[in-house]
Amino acid sequence: MTPKKIIVLGATGSIGDSAVAVMREHRNEFKPVAFVALKSKEKCEALAAEFSAKSYVGEGAALKAIEENDADLCLVALVGESGIEPTLAAIEKGMDIALATKEVLVMEGAKVMAAAKRRGVKMLPVDSEHSAIFQCIQQGGEVERLILTASGGPFLDSPSDLSKVTVEEALNHPSWKMGPKVTIDSSTMMNKGFEIIEAHWLFSIPPDKIDVVVHPQSIVHSLVEFKDGATLAQLSPPDMRVAIQYALSWPQRLPSKREVLDLAQIGKLEFRAPDLERFPALSLAKKALLSGGTAARRLAEADEKAVNDFLQGKILYTDIIKKCEEALNND
Ligand code: MG
Repeated sequence: MTPKKIIVLGATGSIGDSAVAVMREHRNEFKPVAFVALKSKEKCEALAAEFSAKSYVGEGAALKAIEENDADLCLVALVGESGIEPTLAAIEKGMDIALATKEVLVMEGAKVMAAAKRRGVKMLPVDSEHSAIFQCIQQGGEVERLILTASGGPFLDSPSDLSKVTVEEALNHPSWKMGPKVTIDSSTMMNKGFEIIEAHWLFSIPPDKIDVVVHPQSIVHSLVEFKDGATLAQLSPPDMRVAIQYALSWPQRLPSKREVLDLAQIGKLEFRAPDLERFPALSLAKKALLSGGTAARRLAEADEKAVNDFLQGKILYTDIIKKCEEALNND
């Protein structure tokens, strides 16, 4: 089998690290041709040297890498809105997309999915929840409902007053290691809100058929309920490499030396309904999706700005959701 040629956008972030680990384990299957980073020049060049690939760093580097290289697949793991134009460019060149940057579909879902359809390009989810759903629907059958699991983040039950939450507390996620933006979004559950929007576009399922269940252990990564009442789930330890490897290797499954699930050792898996009053982000995201037009884009933009302001100590933790709410009401 000729190795799959891959362009890695966002090679030096946490998804990039996991993708590189997967490609190191499967050098005969994957051939990275270009690594792209916004800032970490040294790290990006070291990766390029290791895999005899090219390195692209800085503003505009992603578009340049796509223009200058042919690849079977483009892994999009850039931060936020900066992922949109490169995703569209890679689709136009006929590359399949392994999508980690959820803002691409949150902000431009209709446009991106239409372009992928027109070019016959596959959109392969890297987000663990969407990978789980994608894995469950591979066996076919009419889908009745998608159930996204949410860890609930560090503030599931306490403190009662969220306004005093510090940056450090919000960056301390109980089960996943991720970049700062998505970690804060996980703590407000805006990340889950965006995942509802992302799931809607990826799987063409209406918003009222996408539910969220809180599952603190992050072992069940999401579930699909089929028309006949059967529900399938995908389970694995919370390790992003599982979803990344599947996105890169699809439709194949490749071996892995990673830790596998030991349910007897875990003992107990918990589930409960999300507290919509404590976490209004879920309702805001559904509202944005139902409003259509630019509502989801406005929500994502407001969130990106508010999270940055919070990280810089300019606003309170609870102001993040307030700013999002305002943006959505600003029609
Ligand atoms: Mg996720």
